[in-house]
Amino acid sequence: MVDTRSSFISQSRVCVFLKALPFLAGVMAMLAVRANAQDSKIDAPKPMVISPSAFRPWDARPRSNIHLLSADPVIKLANRDDMDPSVKPGDDFYRYANGNWLARSVIPAGQQSYDTRAILKEKTSEQVRNLIQEAAATHSAKGSIAQKVGDYYASFMDEVSINAKGLTPLVDEMAAIAAITNKASLSAYLGNTLNSEVDGLTANADHVLGVWINQGFEDSEHNLPHLLQGGLGLPDRDNYLDPSPQMVELRAKYQAHIAAVLKLAGLNDSQNKAARILSLETNMARTFAPDSDAANVFKQNNPWKRADFNVRAPGMDWDAYFKSAGLAGQMDFIVWQPSAVAGVSALVATGDIDQWKDYLRFHLIEHYASVLPRAVASEHFSFYGKTLSGTQQTPNRAGAAVDATNGALPQAVGQLYTQLYFPPEAKTRAQAMVRDLITAFRARIANLTWMSSQTKVKALAKLTALEIGIGYPDIWIDYSTLDIVRDDAFGNMRRAEAFNRLRNLARLKQPVNPIEWPIDAQTPGAVLMFSPNAEFFSAAILQPPYFDSQGDSASNYGSAGAGIAHEISHSFDELGNIYDAHGRLSNWWSAEDLVRFRAEAAQVVEQYDAYCPLVDLCVKGKQVLSENIADLAGLLVAHDAYVLSLKGQTDVVLGGLSGEQRFFLAFAQRWRRIQSEAALRRQITTDTHAPGEYRSDAVRNVDGWYKAYKVEDGDKLYLKSEDRLRIW
Ligand SMILES: [Zn+2]
Repeated sequence: MVDTRSSFISQSRVCVFLKALPFLAGVMAMLAVRANAQDSKIDAPKPMVISPSAFRPWDARPRSNIHLLSADPVIKLANRDDMDPSVKPGDDFYRYANGNWLARSVIPAGQQSYDTRAILKEKTSEQVRNLIQEAAATHSAKGSIAQKVGDYYASFMDEVSINAKGLTPLVDEMAAIAAITNKASLSAYLGNTLNSEVDGLTANADHVLGVWINQGFEDSEHNLPHLLQGGLGLPDRDNYLDPSPQMVELRAKYQAHIAAVLKLAGLNDSQNKAARILSLETNMARTFAPDSDAANVFKQNNPWKRADFNVRAPGMDWDAYFKSAGLAGQMDFIVWQPSAVAGVSALVATGDIDQWKDYLRFHLIEHYASVLPRAVASEHFSFYGKTLSGTQQTPNRAGAAVDATNGALPQAVGQLYTQLYFPPEAKTRAQAMVRDLITAFRARIANLTWMSSQTKVKALAKLTALEIGIGYPDIWIDYSTLDIVRDDAFGNMRRAEAFNRLRNLARLKQPVNPIEWPIDAQTPGAVLMFSPNAEFFSAAILQPPYFDSQGDSASNYGSAGAGIAHEISHSFDELGNIYDAHGRLSNWWSAEDLVRFRAEAAQVVEQYDAYCPLVDLCVKGKQVLSENIADLAGLLVAHDAYVLSLKGQTDVVLGGLSGEQRFFLAFAQRWRRIQSEAALRRQITTDTHAPGEYRSDAVRNVDGWYKAYKVEDGDKLYLKSEDRLRIW
């Protein structure tokens, strides 16, 4: 039971998008908490209407160094302690902005790095844990959101009840597996496990094939089932096929784990059965598409008609399969990995039925391990937590219960979270900022020198069509038909899965909804969708220090504003140029646009190649090119938007800093990070993002920064006007 989504979120960092991670599909990109933020909060430029009750928990940090301005009843502070005013901004802007924070911060034990992202993640986890635990302690009215959240958590924590039930919750499902006698009944059972727990961000479905409902790659009018490979217990195909001693050892441990699980389930001959299960999975892995394919959306765009399955993937009884999957009448599909569908189907025909049945028994137990007796859960953790992930800690039941509750009832938890931490006023203010960003972006596109006028028409149409979700959905999922019972952990998980599956399959009969939220409000992150044409920024990422709904506009635009504009720019750069305004695959750049864009990009590579944090190691300009271009776009657009927001007025001076100064300061403070030398070396060698210091140095290319900080020829970061990058 590898929850790929949550492990993805915890593993990914900074702005991760499709080409950064091997298993990411080209269609969407998850940006977990961006490593950009600023801890300073400077006074709001103008009075705002504040709802007094709703705001306290949202930012309850002590405000000891608030200094009042007579004109402003809602005063924010600048955390000036983080800066090092002894550094000249034009010589080292990153250390001017962050020097004292860098000097006093310490990498937590067991970690390799520390940044605002880590702080924000921890803060949000605590907020979510507290509200779920409070819901569990409250015993709210049956049927309410709080009751469902609280009882889901409480049932998961009730290990006494879980242990007492033993494996009896699996009895019906085990009987269904025992009743499999031939290819047709095996196919029907497999169809029943076709789940909807995958999306364009997950690599390997938990069951044999996963389904994601989304618009077609070339059809923005209809939702279609996208079928993804799945069913392996190890994370990817190389774990099965790689002959290295390390992988041989991993496979031996996995086989031992399978045997241990079967033994716990009371099955005899567990050793032999484990070997046969591993053998079946290895045969499946041989047909799986390699991870590297995931970066190429054209390899995933395989429209199949229902009839194609019999011809191109013979073996499975597809009628039986789709009927029990709830897809009996479905005529059109997108098959992401045809070789895997054909491979699994062939194995249904040629494989031994008993081997399949043991495989299904094992994966059934694995899937529900978290809500089965402690011995099963411990064995699961021992392999997936310790052996595979290298976790040294003991399993944290409360943490797992929080994750499980979030996973089962994401938008129920999201409602409770936003009531406390992201009130409508916060959403309204962030949306106003986004409107300025869009206006500014429109003007930037119109003025681009490398984009032809015909392409600009298409770009502007795409910008107009772009949906940007802020904070949380306008319409929450209605959980009224989902029954959550306090002493039934297994039943709750099963009912929640069935609820989500039905809800997803129902979308096949509904029009495409570009604002179907792919991220939870309480997950600090953002998702950039190319298909449909939409981007989402969660409430949890729109909190201080990234964005402060009561805070200084200049800082908000310089931090969160630049981050949002960075993501918007990806829809118009070499990543987004293959998707049109409706999210259909269609390259809307001309060949000349590409040539001129790359000529500009070459100068970006050159600027970043020159940054060498270690004597023997320089930034690899090509590797981090896309991100640096987006950083520059984000900074320029956010600055334009900030100026727009002033409507011709001059921003107030706060803490001795002008609005312009606070804007750039906030940008530089987004990138603060301390890390070990090993982590820095790893980042430079493998990451598509440059170290924070150099991302912060993007300011060198902006004329406004020179003016704001009086940077002159002779200062170390000074660039002559003609050497400043103009790509956006
Ligand atoms: Zn990016």
